[in-house]
Amino acid sequence: MDTYFQQQLDKLQTDYIDYYLLHAMGKENWANLRKNGVLAWMDKMKASGKVKHIGFSFHDKYPVFRKIVDAYPWDFCQIQFNYLDIREQAGRRGLDYAAAKGMGIIVMEPLRGGKLVTNIPPEVEHIWQKSALRLNEAERALHYVWNIPEVTLVLSGMSALEQVQENIRTASTAKANELSRKELNLYLQARKAYLAKAPLPCTGCEYCLPCPQGVSIPWCFGVYMDAFMFGDVERHKREYNFFVPDEHKADKCTACGACLSKCPQHINIPVEMAKVKAYLA
Ligand code: SF4
Ligand code: SF4
Repeated sequence: MDTYFQQQLDKLQTDYIDYYLLHAMGKENWANLRKNGVLAWMDKMKASGKVKHIGFSFHDKYPVFRKIVDAYPWDFCQIQFNYLDIREQAGRRGLDYAAAKGMGIIVMEPLRGGKLVTNIPPEVEHIWQKSALRLNEAERALHYVWNIPEVTLVLSGMSALEQVQENIRTASTAKANELSRKELNLYLQARKAYLAKAPLPCTGCEYCLPCPQGVSIPWCFGVYMDAFMFGDVERHKREYNFFVPDEHKADKCTACGACLSKCPQHINIPVEMAKVKAYLA
């Protein structure tokens, strides 16, 4: 870690870093860093002044998030959060938990990788028509996150100068606790409308794992559900083929049935896995 850190300082041409993140923490990465003495290393970095504030970015389930939060006096964390993902990953529970411990909260994916901004289904459009606020889709999603007082910083990928200008405008005008109960209810309705389009009720709980064939059941189902919810099949085919490693793809399923009794949502996993294969492969 010392070697990597020195390389980072060299590349950044600086002697210290204000906000340093341990990247993409989850069960495995965290266990690996713990094994390699990361707690003592972080103490050392802060004591030396080379790192002013230390935090971690996170992609896993809430119990793992809580465990990591409790393991160290972090300054901040970075979590995926948007009006659709209020229960996924760290979720709103994680956000509140970390904030209660005095941690700064950086939100990533406030637009769900742009999926909340394009191909809006008519059902969702219909819900937004009831809003008293005249906002475009990006503004709407960002306002939801900025409405939460505990949020310190919102990250959003931008690919055009207009998006930068618009996001600055939103960040400048959005206020915590500004959304009325009625408006917040519309976000919940929109979330419900998106989820209703999903062909499966998979919550990503991972109780079905491990699959003896190595199929990443929640990952395959997640991309499959997104394709229906966000309506851009080609994009999701690319996502599936590019990101899900071959050894974890749906076509590895032998329909052995070992996962069947483990799913609390009673999903017929082998049957649905065959559909994922046909749809996304
Ligand atoms: S049915 Fe398919 S997904 Fe389920 S455990 Fe067997 S091989 Fe894995
Ligand atoms: S157990 Fe069921 S709901 Fe949970 S991840 Fe597996 S398929 Fe999805």
